[in-house]
Amino acid sequence: MKKGLTLLLLGALLSQCATVPITGRKQVKLLPSSQLNGMALSQYDEVKKSEKLLPDSDQRVKDVREIGTKISAAVTKFMKANHMKDRLSEFNWEFNVADQDILNAWCMPGGKVMFYTGILPVCDGVGGIATVMGHEVAHAVARHGNERMSQGLIQQFGGIGLAVAMQDKPQETQNLFMAAYGASSQLGMLKYSRQHESEADKMGLVFMIMAGYEPEEAIDFWGRMSAQKGGAAPPEFLSTHPSDQTRIKEIKEFIPKAKELAAKYNK
Ligand SMILES: [Zn+2]
Repeated sequence: MKKGLTLLLLGALLSQCATVPITGRKQVKLLPSSQLNGMALSQYDEVKKSEKLLPDSDQRVKDVREIGTKISAAVTKFMKANHMKDRLSEFNWEFNVADQDILNAWCMPGGKVMFYTGILPVCDGVGGIATVMGHEVAHAVARHGNERMSQGLIQQFGGIGLAVAMQDKPQETQNLFMAAYGASSQLGMLKYSRQHESEADKMGLVFMIMAGYEPEEAIDFWGRMSAQKGGAAPPEFLSTHPSDQTRIKEIKEFIPKAKELAAKYNK
């Protein structure tokens, strides 16, 4: 019975395929968004309980929320313009700042965003926060975490369905989920691929321009991030496999196209 169920689940999941907006890359999406969104909700609550969150009155929280609200409004427009309207209901945005000195930020499915205080000095103001916000939100919009979680499931459990894994190995599944979304402190696990990074950079630029920020701020941000290397950066910001110079060059090259797309979607 159980084996039959697993096969049935796998068959249903493997048949799903999607296209990443902007880059047009075909993406095999293995896991249903509904299940990942459910996990995201409970995991986000766990993180909020275990981290020391800055209070609503803190200026850093106000900044992150204001920028997050603008970027999320851009994402809504973007999705409407890209036949992704049906995905809008999956998002219920939330932005928080955890008081921990690490270079990290992430966005879980459903738009659950966390910034850590350690990254804010590198952001150095609104433009840098918008760069990171655009980039992290882009990972979620492009469903990169889903791809990584799917790959991780196959690696660790030989491809059993998420529902089965959650039931049989809840802790391992949770760890995998956290790692897939960059929310785990375990270094080196499930790094974003170069392809995912590049897609998030490009989409993030479009979002930040649509939200009214200068895309050149992204060049400055990655320059500052490059100077920070060697510390205890978590996977997301260690994962810049190509040299930072390559990344910055690609961002510069994409800015004219990003401006063009932002103008089109902002109509
Ligand atoms: Zn990234």
